Amino acid sequence: EVYADYAATTPVDRDILKNIIDNADEFGNPSSIHKAGKRAKAQLEKARRQTAALLNASASEIIFTSGATEANNMAIRGVIGRRDRPHVITTEVEHASVLNTFKALEADAEVTYVPADERGVVDMAALKRALREDTALVSIMLVNNETGVMQPIYEIREMLSGSDALLHVDAVQAFGHMTVDVEDFGVDLLSLSAHKLYGPKGVGLLYKSKDVHLDPVITGGSQERDARGGTENTMWIQAMAAAMQKASDEMTRRSIREMQLKELLLNTLTSAEIPFQVNGDVNQSASHIINLYFPWTDAEFLLTALDMAGICLSAGSACHAGTLEPSHVLSSMYGETDRSTKSIRFSFSYMMTDEEIERIAEALGDIYERLMN
Ligand code: PMP
Repeated sequence: EVYADYAATTPVDRDILKNIIDNADEFGNPSSIHKAGKRAKAQLEKARRQTAALLNASASEIIFTSGATEANNMAIRGVIGRRDRPHVITTEVEHASVLNTFKALEADAEVTYVPADERGVVDMAALKRALREDTALVSIMLVNNETGVMQPIYEIREMLSGSDALLHVDAVQAFGHMTVDVEDFGVDLLSLSAHKLYGPKGVGLLYKSKDVHLDPVITGGSQERDARGGTENTMWIQAMAAAMQKASDEMTRRSIREMQLKELLLNTLTSAEIPFQVNGDVNQSASHIINLYFPWTDAEFLLTALDMAGICLSAGSACHAGTLEPSHVLSSMYGETDRSTKSIRFSFSYMMTDEEIERIAEALGDIYERLMN
């Protein structure tokens, strides 16, 4: 089997997993005041300092969550919750955890959805037009999970200078592939998930600048400085910290390898004369994702045929797979064309081999031949 769907999720790093199991004796509740609790608390706070340092944040600015979906909800609902029907801005190409959160809050906030252009980049003129004096929040992703296209974070920050709007960034697909520095970006809120960077599923974090106050979404005990009730998932939080550390330490090596794999795929498909077009601007995309339009067939058919050939790929967000609706990201970029139903996302890992890429190209070639004859 060849798996090329690493933007959907990654395997857990075995060394990190082993380390966690070796430390499993430390099982205390970090909120307990006895020694066992204090030791767990120390572990938790060590992980918090480590993740904070990797983002150039302070430890007090990190809130651990059950993943990026929760972190995105926490940021968006937390800002909207304390205000009286505020104006907020997001883009049409966000992940479902952002987009559907705003959709669910349309009675509580006035939401403007800004489209992306054909490069996959947010329409900056439209963003500028949307921005108002009373805009409370702008939520925009750093790297798109379907196309890999990076949004112009510095230009967006610049556009917001002098405005009171908070900037929330979903950086799930960015960390480990590029430097994520909250200070340098000038963001107020930033979401991450461990399972996209060889950590476990079900753990993530929200960076929240100390100047920002959010209404809690998960109310309960006073954990996470009252921002999120519930006993902290100490094991997985430590695993996330370790995975982030490793992803950061190995970032250059990993992303160079990912870029090589991407190049290899594009070159192999071109020399095999399999017709395709790249969706979005390949020169503005993260190292590990590429989205290709195959005008000669439907993505649904192609994915099934590839799966039968032992190739695991997806059309975009796994959160929509199964139904395979037209991609909302590609529809925003290109309008209602067949690109939205005839495109596939390839997402790479530094662990992949050249042979795996060749097998993907071969399988695509076989399907193409069969359809053409
Ligand atoms: N945002 C983006 C851009 C994503 O790719 C994902 C994962 N599909 C999420 C948010 C949600 O992350 P999680 O699975 O940790 O809830």
